[in-house]
Amino acid sequence: MSADGVVDITILGAGPAGLAAAYYAGHRDASVRIIESLEQLGGQVAAVYPEKHIYDVAGHPKILGTKLVELCAEQGLQYGPEVRLGEEVQTLERVNENGEELLAIGTSEGIFLTRALIITAGHGAFEPRKLGIEGIDEWEGRGVHYFVREKDVFRDRTCVIVGGGDSALDWTLGLQDTVKPPIALVHRRDNFRALESSVSEARALEGEGRVRIMTPCEVREVHGDGALEAVTIENTKTGQSEQVPCEALITLLGFHSHLGAIADWGLELEGKRQIRIDPTTCETSLSKVYAAGDVAGYPGKITLITIGMGEAAIAANNAVAQIRGEKVQPKYSTD
Ligand SMILES: Cc1cc2nc3c(=O)[nH]c(=O)nc-3n(C[C@H](O)[C@H](O)[C@H](O)COP(=O)(O)OP(=O)(O)OC[C@H]3O[C@@H](n4cnc5c(N)ncnc54)[C@H](O)[C@@H]3O)c2cc1C
Repeated sequence: MSADGVVDITILGAGPAGLAAAYYAGHRDASVRIIESLEQLGGQVAAVYPEKHIYDVAGHPKILGTKLVELCAEQGLQYGPEVRLGEEVQTLERVNENGEELLAIGTSEGIFLTRALIITAGHGAFEPRKLGIEGIDEWEGRGVHYFVREKDVFRDRTCVIVGGGDSALDWTLGLQDTVKPPIALVHRRDNFRALESSVSEARALEGEGRVRIMTPCEVREVHGDGALEAVTIENTKTGQSEQVPCEALITLLGFHSHLGAIADWGLELEGKRQIRIDPTTCETSLSKVYAAGDVAGYPGKITLITIGMGEAAIAANNAVAQIRGEKVQPKYSTD
């Protein structure tokens, strides 16, 4: 990054394509800034299917989603890009600074200048699905959580986990050594979608008084004076409600995504959800704005991780060449 904060390449979205683009740009000595709306790296793989195996990523006959994200991050971050998590990119403008045309990328945290932009936004910015309780947003940071990043945040706290998928079950098991037992696991259906072995393990812990499985139930109210202290949980079959001690309410209900403001930047689109690119360069209809991965469209496009990574290599190398006024050429990484 230069002294005035200008980077060569900004990458919008830290899924597999974004992390691959960060690698290729860093490998070409470009300064890089990654902006990701979620508080985590890995895009759909991390958000939707972290515990599933993937079989078709080149060089990996079988790999767990979380492992692939870990490796993509290790590779993508090795040149030390600036990483801004939890910030959704909203605006794109062209500005002139000291005679140089730059792109100004706007997020909730400010305006960031860049020479080129690679959009690797997948299906758009991911946001956690939230409970339909009025005013729930005001409890964020005061006891309501959508991720478990550091287990220690929950040390010796009373905890309610909401959800029926793998994440809810994984953290019900994974926080056993941290929180004050029992963890209440609340799901609106009697059947869980999570791996059967995890559900069996949770039921065994219920027998030991370490987990309390509450189904078919929904959290209706949150209570506390400043910080969260309890939640009201309703059994939707019997209609009975109960107040349960809760200093940490962790809702793991999946994510939804939207292309959002990107759709209003004047980019030519391919269908409704993709940005049209020239597949030979991955440049969009706007100069110095590239796209790769699921968000990038052209006739015959296949949305797969391997394809997105290939497009990321094309986009990064073309962006570097365009910034420097050079011919596009590969640079091998072997040493
Ligand atoms: C259940 C499931 C199984 C799959 N299995 C396979 C498989 O076996 N093999 C395979 O190859 N593919 C598979 N896929 C598809 C694969 O996950 C996608 O092709 C891949 O994740 C696309 O990567 P990406 O980096 O383009 O986008 P994503 O992974 O979608 O990442 C995009 C990131 O950009 C962020 N973002 C978007 N907009 C903004 C914004 N405005 N500001 C900041 N950040 C933003 C998002 O939050 C997100 O983290 C599967 C998908 C699903 C849902």
